[in-house]
Amino acid sequence: MAVLKEPIEEALQLRNYIDGEWVESEGETKEVVNPATGKVIAEVPISTKDEIEEAVEAAKEAYPDWRRTPPLARARCLFRLKELLEENFEELSRIQTMEHGKTIDESRGETRRGIEMVEVATGIPSLMMGCNLEDIASGIDEYLIRQPLGVFGIIGPFNFPFMVPLWFAPFAVATGNCIVLKPSSEDPLSQIKIVELAEEAGIPPGVWNLVNGGRTVVSGMLDHPDIKGICFVGSTPVGRDVIYRRCGETGKRVIVMCGAKNFALVMPDADLESTIAACMTSFYGNTGQRCLANANLVVVGEGLSEQELEAFYKKVVDAFVASASKIRMGYGLDDTVHMGPLRDEGKKENVLQYVEKGIEEGATLTLDGRQFELVEDLPEACFVGPTVFEDVTLDMAIAKEEIFGPVACMMKATSLDEAIGMIHQIPFGNAASIFTGSGKWAREFQYRVECGNIGINVGIAAPMAFFPFSGMKDSFFGTLHGQGPEAIRFFTESKVVIQRWF
Ligand code: NAD
Repeated sequence: MAVLKEPIEEALQLRNYIDGEWVESEGETKEVVNPATGKVIAEVPISTKDEIEEAVEAAKEAYPDWRRTPPLARARCLFRLKELLEENFEELSRIQTMEHGKTIDESRGETRRGIEMVEVATGIPSLMMGCNLEDIASGIDEYLIRQPLGVFGIIGPFNFPFMVPLWFAPFAVATGNCIVLKPSSEDPLSQIKIVELAEEAGIPPGVWNLVNGGRTVVSGMLDHPDIKGICFVGSTPVGRDVIYRRCGETGKRVIVMCGAKNFALVMPDADLESTIAACMTSFYGNTGQRCLANANLVVVGEGLSEQELEAFYKKVVDAFVASASKIRMGYGLDDTVHMGPLRDEGKKENVLQYVEKGIEEGATLTLDGRQFELVEDLPEACFVGPTVFEDVTLDMAIAKEEIFGPVACMMKATSLDEAIGMIHQIPFGNAASIFTGSGKWAREFQYRVECGNIGINVGIAAPMAFFPFSGMKDSFFGTLHGQGPEAIRFFTESKVVIQRWF
């Protein structure tokens, strides 16, 4: 066992970043606790309505100059930011492990994905170009230009504290907008560090503001007439019933990315070894707290007799349980650990309630994650081990609700058609995976499944920074998605000019 050095030694007093200054909040504070060690690592302010208004005002004032800054000059700031993020790569990753609980390898993956967003946004001089056509009528030309809109609000979830706000922030800033960002109050530290680096990279005061807090800050954003659009990532009830609804009422454009309950289908011709390896990271990576995590595994007996399906199901589930049982749990800064704790005790309690519910509903608890061992002596308050349920039916809460923990539900289907029908019974549509050697089945799956992110022999279908991060049904509300060209369109207005000279 080798625990890496912690970058945070004493509890930090976090502040807001408004108009290029680090300012203390008047609001109450909340502790940020390292879920693996139980140590307080920061006090985060729950900011007030006046503070969010100050931040929006600062962003509004910074906007005219930032908008006039040539795209190439804005891109240079992002190039510097990218370099600074690289220089601080390891520290940023360790901060994520301390604030969230994920393993250091998971944090490093998150840091890499986040930096890629900045990298892609540096292409703004090309990405933001419009288009034109000469002679739409004799002697008349028409062209389209893309212009920024002003101030955007960004609201992050707890599960990817570093990466998710970067699905939006670099694209918003690159296109000439100013932002007010509210990280999750559960783990805001890595966003604070990004802002420090953005300041060092030369992003001017007022362009990239950060206000810590909760509902008051969010309401302040939703109601503010000077905020033109909101990017939200979080749970479906908040995303749909609070954010999407209010933005409709106040006329803001939105990207609202929400909860999930994803399926993995295992076809009879799947390569079992690589399928199980992919499933381990998909079901248990980030301790199941991932919107792209698979949660329901369906063993599909396409072309098999009833007995053959039973035998195939047993083979898959036995291999799954054997692998899940070997997962090493502990502090994510120990780089031999495979799975860290859940973010906090409340999240563990929520998972335990689902385990109870699954038993009450009649599912069989094949692997009980309530019993576990840690690789070192740590408080157990936030840990739950890999859990597997069998005999699960789709009417059970464990099969259709987002548990957001390390719980896998095993099911069977006699055909691909039946398995796709099962996916469509769930209100979510974030992601789905198929494991198969057949191009025909893979294409059928990709063609028919109503989910925004499809994995073919891939357990976590996470789109790269130059593709949109999609989602359907109760997993996404809005039209344009985060990342890449769709984000550029979201953060700009198309203006059409028609000209004729006499
Ligand atoms: P959450 O909805 O509890 O919180 C998200 C954000 O909204 C936080 O910043 C929080 O402070 C704020 N918030 C919470 N309740 C609010 C309220 N009543 N009014 C106003 N603001 C409120 O979500 P979470 O627990 O932080 O994140 C986990 C959820 O995010 C899961 O459902 C997960 O699937 C989802 N998620 C989705 C994606 C995706 O791409 N679709 C990606 C990551 C996470």
